Amino acid sequence: MTGRPTFINHADEPPACRGHNPEWWFPTRQDAANTRKAKAICHTCPHENACREWAYAQPPTTLYGIWGGTTEGERRRRKHRERMARRLADRE
Ligand code: SF4
Repeated sequence: MTGRPTFINHADEPPACRGHNPEWWFPTRQDAANTRKAKAICHTCPHENACREWAYAQPPTTLYGIWGGTTEGERRRRKHRERMARRLADRE
C-alpha cells in the first residue's frame, strides 16, 4: 500500500466502516458472508467513490481487502478490462 487514504480520518463524515469489525474488510477467499457485510457497509459510506478510486490507483499486488465496495479481484479484473480496451483502441 502506498499510504492511507485521507478519508479514513475525515472528521466531518466518518467512514462507514469505522466501529465495525475490521476483519470483515479482509476476508479469506471462502468468506462470502464477511465480504457481503463489508460491501453492504461500503455502499452506505459517504466516501465510497473516493475510496474505490483510491484503491484502484494502488498497485494491485500491494492492496488486499475490500475498499470502496470492491474486492482486489474485482479491481484486478477492471484493470484488465481497461487494458484490453486500450489495446483494442490502439489497433484501430
Ligand atoms: S468505502 Fe468502505 S472501506 Fe472505504 S471508507 Fe467507506 S466503508 Fe470504509
